[in-house]
Formats: sequence, structure tokens, C-alpha cells
Amino acid sequence: MTATIIDGKAFAAKVRGQVAEQVARLKADHGLIPGLAVVLVGADPASEVYVRSKGKMTVEVGMNSFEHKLAADTSEADLLALIDKLNNDPQVNGILVQLPLPDHLNEDLVINSIAPQKDVDGFHISNVGLLGTGQKSMVPCTPLGCLMMLRAHHGSLSGLDAVVIGRSNIVGKPMAQLLLGDSCTVTVAHSRTRDLPAVVRRADIVVAAVGRAQMVPGDWIKPGATVIDVGINRIEKDGGGTRLVGDVDYDSCAAVAGAITPVPGGVGPMTIACLLANTLTATCRDNNIPETT
Ligand code: NDP
Repeated sequence: MTATIIDGKAFAAKVRGQVAEQVARLKADHGLIPGLAVVLVGADPASEVYVRSKGKMTVEVGMNSFEHKLAADTSEADLLALIDKLNNDPQVNGILVQLPLPDHLNEDLVINSIAPQKDVDGFHISNVGLLGTGQKSMVPCTPLGCLMMLRAHHGSLSGLDAVVIGRSNIVGKPMAQLLLGDSCTVTVAHSRTRDLPAVVRRADIVVAAVGRAQMVPGDWIKPGATVIDVGINRIEKDGGGTRLVGDVDYDSCAAVAGAITPVPGGVGPMTIACLLANTLTATCRDNNIPETT
């Protein structure tokens, strides 16, 4: 069997196009321009790349991008004061604090100081609770992107067996909640799971969010299953240099799966597209305008 490749890059371009149309409508009908504020503390090179790319795409869909780059030794009080200012700024509809934060800053405290309705990453405990109880919330971008691709590929997910490998607060747990919300039978696996290969072999849907390069081989995959690879790992290339790979061994999994997301070009682009979609959603909710994306 040769798996269908789920083209996250093309899917994300479509989502960004729809967001851009809605942003133009908001501007024309209501005189509103959604604004996304991104806060980066310190100069982690990977985070700087993400922030730049988020800022560029925010502007491309017609939104305002506000970047706040703070020194690595910024005090918690100063960071909280900035968030408070952004919470009260009507031009800012979405706030994202780039993680990880330097060690001297309390990540939970910082995230929970963002106004929940502007928390476009969906990490605030209010949004986590709303998602867990099936209420309207801001949904974390990476799992939301995975869900959108799964829905587009399968139509209904109802009754399917889903295994999520990884239980982080930013990917694994919210992914499990979303799949449960779509009536999958969900198993969340982690580093203490016994006989992971047998657990994964049951799954119609496998979401791998582990952070270990090419950990899932093809012989763990049920023939015809859908594989969503969240992992982003940089490995040495034969003959020098490096390349990006996911948490699944792409070639052997693609030989067995019914559908699979590539790395790069799968989940990654959808994450930023969903961030923009969440910023649009936040703007609409803030202004009592019906959401159409
Ligand atoms: P975390 O490190 O926070 O969580 C990893 C999870 O994997 C943990 O729950 C851990 O279990 C589990 N795990 C570790 N080793 C094993 C193992 N041998 N068997 C089974 N489970 C294991 O990672 P994140 O959730 O933040 O990220 C996961 C991956 O996704 C990373 O590669 C990251 O780069 C990528 N990522 C990609 C994004 C995108 O936009 N495409 C966005 C966010 C992340 P335990 O809890 O027991 O320790």
C-alpha cells in the first residue's frame, strides 16, 4: 500500500487564504484590523525563527503584528506588566508568549496572566478547562491543525481508535481532548506505557508527539491507519549537514499507512495557520461578530 500524503503546506495555505478573506471582510464591514502580539524573552535562535515567521504570515493575511523582544534577564514583574498592558490594549486581539521562557520566569504564572479571550495559544487554565468540558474555548494551535487535517481526510472520526503518543500540555493532552470531542476512542501513551508497539497497532489514527527522531517504525502501524507526525527533530545527514525528521520513520510507515503527514510540510505549517485562525476567532468573539472560519 502507498499512503496518501496529507499535504499540510497546501492545507495551511488554504486556511491562511480563508483567514485573509475574513480579515478583509472585518476591515470592510466593521473597520477592524485583528492584531497579534508576540512576546519573545531572550534570544533562543529557534524561537527567533518561529517569531519572525509568525510575524511575516500575520502581516500577509492583513493583520497587525506587534513584536515585543525582551532581554533574557527581564524580570517577571516587567513581563507581567507588559502582558497587562497588552491585555488592556484594544488593538491587540491575540497574545502569544513564545515558550520556553528563561528558567527564572514562572511559565504557568505568565501564561495564566494572559486574558483568556486573548490567549490564542489556548494554554491558559481557563481555556484548558473549557476544552476539557467541551465548551467554546481557544484551542491549542498544533492539535487544532492535526484535527483539521484528520477531519478533512476522514470526514467523520466517530468511533475510530486513536492513539496519541505523548502527554504534554501543549500537544498530547489537548490532542486527546479534541479526538474525544470528535467521538474517537482515545488512548494516550507516554514513556511509561507498556508494550507501546501493541498499543499503536490497534490504532486507526496515530498522532506521534514525542520528540524522538523516527521512533515509530512501520511495523507498529496497522495497515491503512492514518499517521499524524507532530515531531520536529534535527538529525545528522549521511555525508554531512543536518535535516529535519519527525517522530515516525517516514518511509517504513508510509509503506503501511493509509495516509501520513510528512516532516517538514505536515503539521508545522498548520500550526501557524491555526494561530492566525485563532486570532481571527478572538477578534470576532471580542466584537460579537459571528465566526465563519
Ligand atoms: P514533550 O517533551 O513536552 O513531551 C513528550 C512526550 O513524549 C511526553 O509525554 C513523554 O512521556 C513522551 N515520550 C518520551 N519518550 C517516550 C517513549 N520512548 N515512548 C513513549 N512516549 C515517550 O514534547 P512536546 O509535546 O512539546 O513535543 C513533541 C514533539 O512535537 C517534539 O518533537 C516537538 O518539537 C514537536 N512539536 C511540533 C510542533 C509543530 O508545530 N509541528 C509544535 C509543538 C511541538 P512522559 O510524559 O512520560 O515523559
